[in-house]
Amino acid sequence: MVFYKVEKNGWKNYFSDIVSIEEISDRFCISEKDLKKVSKIYPFRLPRYFYSKIKEFKDPIFIQAIPDILEIKSDSGMPDPFLEDSGLSPVPNLVHRYDDRVILLASDKCAMYCRHCMRKRRVGIFNENFFDNFDEILNYLKNHNEIEDIIISGGDPLLLSDEKIEFILSGIRKIKKDEILRIHSRFFSTLPMRITPFLCNILKKYHPVYINTHFNHSSEISKEAEKAALTASDYGIPLGCQSVFLKGVNDNYNAISELFKKLLKIRIKPYYLHHPDPVQGTSHLKPSVEKGLEIIKKLRGRISGMAIPNYMIDLPDGGGKVALCPDSLIKKDNNFLFVENFRGKVYKYPLK
Ligand SMILES: *Cc1c(COP(=O)(O)O)cnc(C)c1O
Ligand code: SF4
Repeated sequence: MVFYKVEKNGWKNYFSDIVSIEEISDRFCISEKDLKKVSKIYPFRLPRYFYSKIKEFKDPIFIQAIPDILEIKSDSGMPDPFLEDSGLSPVPNLVHRYDDRVILLASDKCAMYCRHCMRKRRVGIFNENFFDNFDEILNYLKNHNEIEDIIISGGDPLLLSDEKIEFILSGIRKIKKDEILRIHSRFFSTLPMRITPFLCNILKKYHPVYINTHFNHSSEISKEAEKAALTASDYGIPLGCQSVFLKGVNDNYNAISELFKKLLKIRIKPYYLHHPDPVQGTSHLKPSVEKGLEIIKKLRGRISGMAIPNYMIDLPDGGGKVALCPDSLIKKDNNFLFVENFRGKVYKYPLK
């Protein structure tokens, strides 16, 4: 089964085939002026491939891809609630919050600019050249033995050429011989043609390499996305997914359970469901935490446990990530826990 021609750089044609503001404005009868006003502040970029998945106005793909005037109208949230650019960045393009893990911001660009992006203050706007201070980053890794998990993120690092990706991985591997490398990429959803055997052949040389993808709705799981996931997985790359809980996209039980079940079938393990961060320009996309907990609670016992991720919030002021769990512990005495199961029935669990 071949859905697209697999050439080393074939993906670049799909990458540069993007949709214009005018085309969006015509198709959906939205003010061109508004679209341009928003995209001046928060960049717009939409590959035709992902655009072709929009079926109608305000559907789950539309909401993630098309600028909304509300992005610049509401003023709640902060541009950088986690102080990634200042407090947590000892070296430019490196974020170090947890002792054992760092994030490298290897690219400031993406195939598509998600309207809900938690780094919307910088992606597509900053124009830093990661490679200018790559030596400094490697030096930092060398001097910090406690770092055992290196996350290559951005923007989207898979936007870089195969050669540059190999340059980064081989540079890190010289210092961190057998530590975990993680790549965070949305290409599996927004432009799956990027995931070629050529790319995977490079990645597998530097194992253990994990990839965390980003899918928010089952309509993103196309034949092409499936092929991308199966290709990467055939090269021994374990795949996870970091989804974002978003109003109008997946803030109901059916959308969430469908998404997680379909991901698991293409060998992507749902890793996190992120509650949206308090980021400026995204508050209109934020569902309530109660709703999130209710959905997570309902999943348990109804779909494969393999398909259920942790529901995460990221605490401001550097508090870090915390998994929120629905309350199942009703009460506790000296001898028993009283625990509610997925059907709402309470059981006594002996402590002794
Ligand atoms: C989320 C995050 C990580 C990775 O956390 P995991 O829970 O291990 O996936 C690392 N550094 C920072 C700054 C983060 O925000
Ligand atoms: S792919 Fe990730 S970094 Fe890029 S715009 Fe979307 S959420 Fe932000």
